[in-house]
Amino acid sequence: MSSRKITLSESEMPKAWYNIAADFARPMPPPVGKDGKPIGPDALARVFPMNLIEQEMSSERWIEIPEPVRAALYQWRPTPLHRAAGLERALGTPAKIFFKNESLSPSGSHKNNSAIPQAYYNKQFGITRLTTETGAGQWGTALSHAARLFGLECRVYMVRVSYRQKPMRQSLMRLWGARCIPSPSTETQAGRDVLAATPDTPGSLGIAISEAIEDAVTHDNTRYALGSVLNHVCLHQTIIGLEAREQFKKINLRPDVVVACAGGGSNFAGLAFPFLADKIAGRDMRVVAVESASCPKMTRGVYAYDSGDVAMMTPLLPMFTLGHGFIPPGIHAGGLRFHGMAPTVSHALREGLIEASAIPQLECFRAAALFAGSEGIVPAPESSHAIAQTIREALRAKEEGRERVIVFNLSGHGLLDLSGYQDFLDGKLEDFEQTEATLRPGIESIANLPKIG
Ligand SMILES: *Cc1c(COP(=O)(O)O)cnc(C)c1O
Repeated sequence: MSSRKITLSESEMPKAWYNIAADFARPMPPPVGKDGKPIGPDALARVFPMNLIEQEMSSERWIEIPEPVRAALYQWRPTPLHRAAGLERALGTPAKIFFKNESLSPSGSHKNNSAIPQAYYNKQFGITRLTTETGAGQWGTALSHAARLFGLECRVYMVRVSYRQKPMRQSLMRLWGARCIPSPSTETQAGRDVLAATPDTPGSLGIAISEAIEDAVTHDNTRYALGSVLNHVCLHQTIIGLEAREQFKKINLRPDVVVACAGGGSNFAGLAFPFLADKIAGRDMRVVAVESASCPKMTRGVYAYDSGDVAMMTPLLPMFTLGHGFIPPGIHAGGLRFHGMAPTVSHALREGLIEASAIPQLECFRAAALFAGSEGIVPAPESSHAIAQTIREALRAKEEGRERVIVFNLSGHGLLDLSGYQDFLDGKLEDFEQTEATLRPGIESIANLPKIG
C-alpha cells in the first residue's frame, strides 16, 4: 500500500538551516548604497538586530537552529509531505506528484517559518518592539503570532485597501496581541506626507514599508522585520526543503522536478535550495520558480540593482526586477505582487540552476479548483501558481509516457481568501496582459541607479 502522507517525528526535524551562498560557483554581487559602494553591517544596524545582519551576510553552509526556535516550530512542524494521489487520478498522469503542506502553520502559510526565528533573534538582542508592513495580511499575522510567543510588542502597517477588504486578517493580528494600523497613517512623517498629498490613496506596500522602517528607526529598542526577499528569510525557509529531502529518502524516491511559486522568493528558496545543493553536486533535475504573469520580474524584468521599496529606504540589492516604480495590477495572489526577486533566487536563475515560468491568473484559479476537488485543500491564490505549473509538468509526463516525480510547495491555504474564489466562481476574474508600454515606467524608475559591475 502506498502511503498518502510521509511524516517526520519532532526529533527528525532538521537542526540547521542550509545557506546556499556557500555553494554558488560565482559569488553574489554585494548589496550597495546609492553611491554604488558595497554596504557593511553597520549600515543596517538601526533597522535590523546585529545577529540577523550577521546571518544576512554569512557564507557558512550550515547555520544551527537555536533550541528555543525549534521548540516554537514544533507547534506545527515537521509538516507532512503529501502524495497528491487524487490529483494524479484526475489528470490521468503516470507522474508521481507530491506536495509539502506549509498551510498547517498558525497563520496558514510558510511565513511563520521565518517569523519565529526573527522574533527570537530580536529578543536575544534586547529588542522589545517589532514593526513591519503587510499587504494581503499573511506576513503581518505570522509576525504577530511569533512576537506574542517571544513576548515582544508588534506593530503592523497594513496597506489601507487590504485593511478594509480583509478585516479577518486584522482580527487575527489583534488576537495575537499586535496593533494593526492602516497605511498611510498619521503615525509617521512618511505617512503624513502621503496623506497630505493624496488623502484618498489606497496605500501601497512601498508606502507601508517606508512607514514601518521610519517607526523602527525613530523608537528605542525597536527593529523592523521583513517577510521575504532577504538572505536570512530565505535561509529560515530552507527547513521546508530539508524536511522534504528526508521524507523522500524514507520512500526511496528523488524528485525530478521541483516547483514553487515566487513572490519575493522565500517559499521557493525554502523548498528548492536544499535540492539545488544536490543539483550543484551533479544530480540531474529541473527546478522551476513560478511567478504571476501580471508581475513577471524573472521572465520579463532586468537583472539590476534596485531598492525594495518605493521611497528607496532599503539598500540596493542585485535582483531580477520590474523597477521599484512598477505598480502591479490588483491580482488576488497578493503575495506575488512584489516588483523584485530575492538576490539568492535571482543569482540561481542567472547561474542556470533554475528556470522561471509565468502563469496568468485564470489558469491558476482553474488549477486551484481542480486541486480543491481532488485533494480537499483550498490553496492560497499564490500557491495555485505552483499547482498550475505542476499540472503542466504532469500533463507533459503523460504525453511522453514518463513516470516523473514532481514535488511542489503548497505555501499556504486559501480559507481567508475566499473572496477571490467567489469572483472566480462568479466569472468576474480576468487575465491582465502586461505589454512593453505597461512595463516601461517601472524599468525607467531604476535607469539612474548604480549598475551591477
Ligand atoms: C507571501 C506568500 C507567498 C509569496 O512570498 P514568497 O516570499 O515568494 O514565498 C506565497 N504564498 C503564500 C501563501 C504567501 O503568504
